[in-house]
Amino acid sequence: MEFNGKNVLVTGAASGIGAEISKNLASRGLKVWINYRSRPQEADDLKVEIEAQGGVAAVICFDVSDDKAFVEGIKTIIDSDGELSYLVNNAGITNDKLALRMKTEDFESVIKTNLVSAFVGCREALKVMSKKRFGSVVNISSIVAETGNVGQVNYTASKGGMLSMTKSFALEGSARGIRYNAITPGFIATEMTDKLSDEVKKGYTDKIPLKRFGSAQDIANAVAFLLSDEASYITGTTLKVNGGLYM
Ligand code: NAD
Repeated sequence: MEFNGKNVLVTGAASGIGAEISKNLASRGLKVWINYRSRPQEADDLKVEIEAQGGVAAVICFDVSDDKAFVEGIKTIIDSDGELSYLVNNAGITNDKLALRMKTEDFESVIKTNLVSAFVGCREALKVMSKKRFGSVVNISSIVAETGNVGQVNYTASKGGMLSMTKSFALEGSARGIRYNAITPGFIATEMTDKLSDEVKKGYTDKIPLKRFGSAQDIANAVAFLLSDEASYITGTTLKVNGGLYM
């Protein structure tokens, strides 16, 4: 895959899907900014691992749900590299409860971390990428944005909002040479899905046409494609990476 840009910011990159996206993009020649909030050791270890394989990486600590910190983080990258070519809004949380038991704060906190942060990232990307009239953003949503899910009205609302927001940013970014796309991962083997009981995992696996949970690499490869020049005519789309679970 070809990349016209030189660097990428991956949010929530110290673990799971974000870490795999970081390794994948570094192996393709991009300088990766590994964002973390609370896992400094894992972020540092990831940087060392990337560098050991000949890649270039830097760590950057901020909480994506703090808009000032996010803006400041992007400024740090611009001050260092002179540009930001790509952004992957990957950081996300769950706080599952049945709707009847969900407090308004439980709803708002997930919206803030997952959706408001992605808005801030997309908006700041639009500002800084406009200067070069080049850039590409991928938002990591979820299959449950498309299907709904019991116990996740907060999470599904945040991930569904990401999908429609991605289309609006794609419309506003197109005249400036900036593409915005989203990915809806199905069930991917990471810490987030480790929380599920074996029984629930088996129930889902039985329903997945490809009969397995996805890997973080499956998502990383899709991210790399959407960011790359090979996807230069693709914007505003949602790429389902779910083993056929929802078509
Ligand atoms: P994960 O919990 O391993 O990764 C999420 C990362 O985001 C963590 O490193 C966490 O510390 C970081 N993070 C959380 N809040 C943050 C904040 N405020 N600021 C900065 N970083 C923050 O989970 P994952 O499975 O790797 O999830 C990555 C993304 O993929 C999430 O957006 C998740 O919703 C989405 N997703 C995951 C699955 C799955 O099956 N694992 C399925 C669909 C979508």
